[in-house]
Amino acid sequence: MVIFCDECGERYILEKNDMKEKVIMFECEICHNLVKVSVPDYEVKNQPDGGIPKD
Ligand SMILES: [Zn+2]
Repeated sequence: MVIFCDECGERYILEKNDMKEKVIMFECEICHNLVKVSVPDYEVKNQPDGGIPKD
């Protein structure tokens, strides 16, 4: 999952292991903005099929 800082646009890669929480907050290394991310349910569950929702 790719995250962009709202303030400066810096790109961060969020690993599966980091997505145990529904909401993740971290400080941007560039501008020190507090970046808040809501993780989709299918990412949190970390499904073996790659997280693609099935109908
Ligand atoms: Zn930033």
